[in-house]
Amino acid sequence: MRERPREDDSAAQDSEAASPWLPVQRGTEVPDLGGLEAPISLSHALESGFGPRRLDNDDDRTDMHLGIDYDATVGTPVYAVADGTAFRVKPSSSSSDPATLYIEHVVAPFTFQGRELDRYYAVYSHLVDFNVLEDEAVSAGQEVAFAGETGGANSPHLHIELRLGTWCSLRYSTENPDSSCAADYDPAINPLHAFPASVEGPLSPLVVSEDPLIVKLRHAEQDFDFNRIESDLGVVDFDLRQGFDASTEEGLDDMDYGWVQLSPDRRNDEEDAQGYTLRFTEPVAWVELLDIHGEGWRLEL
Ligand SMILES: [Zn+2]
Repeated sequence: MRERPREDDSAAQDSEAASPWLPVQRGTEVPDLGGLEAPISLSHALESGFGPRRLDNDDDRTDMHLGIDYDATVGTPVYAVADGTAFRVKPSSSSSDPATLYIEHVVAPFTFQGRELDRYYAVYSHLVDFNVLEDEAVSAGQEVAFAGETGGANSPHLHIELRLGTWCSLRYSTENPDSSCAADYDPAINPLHAFPASVEGPLSPLVVSEDPLIVKLRHAEQDFDFNRIESDLGVVDFDLRQGFDASTEEGLDDMDYGWVQLSPDRRNDEEDAQGYTLRFTEPVAWVELLDIHGEGWRLEL
């Protein structure tokens, strides 16, 4: 909590004192998939969260990370998050193509972005080997594959996504227009909605400038659940891809949303937790910063 702005009468020029953050609790539009099993032992650290991030191998580039990454060694077992079916077992075909397992989970019908859906897919990537065959039934907690570093990962880890309604991403269907799997939306949500988390803590926003408004925001260490920026000028929501041009890879990876620019922290910052710098390019009357649970902070200007 050391980063929360606080009253300080010794600093009359301190703009933070006039701009207290108020706690807010909103709902979430992401369906409740129920409590799932962890895809890997929770002793493995989360090393990359869902949403915009700075690329490991090129500090000047950012992309939209549609899953979460658990640090792992090659051969670490990974587990089915619920009862389901091994839908697609795709070995690596080249050094840039990760071995990937898709498990289909059929559930009670739910609504997401106006669509009636009845299944989701857990997608495990950068694997070194599989422990199931295509079409094989799997049960929750079953060992289904082994983590690795195929497909150009720069260290062994498990990348896992939850995709609602369709196994293929918008990116895939854009690149493979003849595929039978065509999605007209980007189906990935932050898996931390449904996975057991080793850490859950509040967001820590800090106003570093009021004109223009610049906010530094951090997750609790390894929490990685920042999701939404809302103001009188608009909404940016990672889960819903609201505020993004999600129709192209370039649009999805662009961190400039018109009224706010979002800059993911560089890795290996002096502080451990990953966060963002938000620069508001137009004056805003109020801002809310929310995590995936709809919890966060409101700032009146
Ligand atoms: Zn990843």
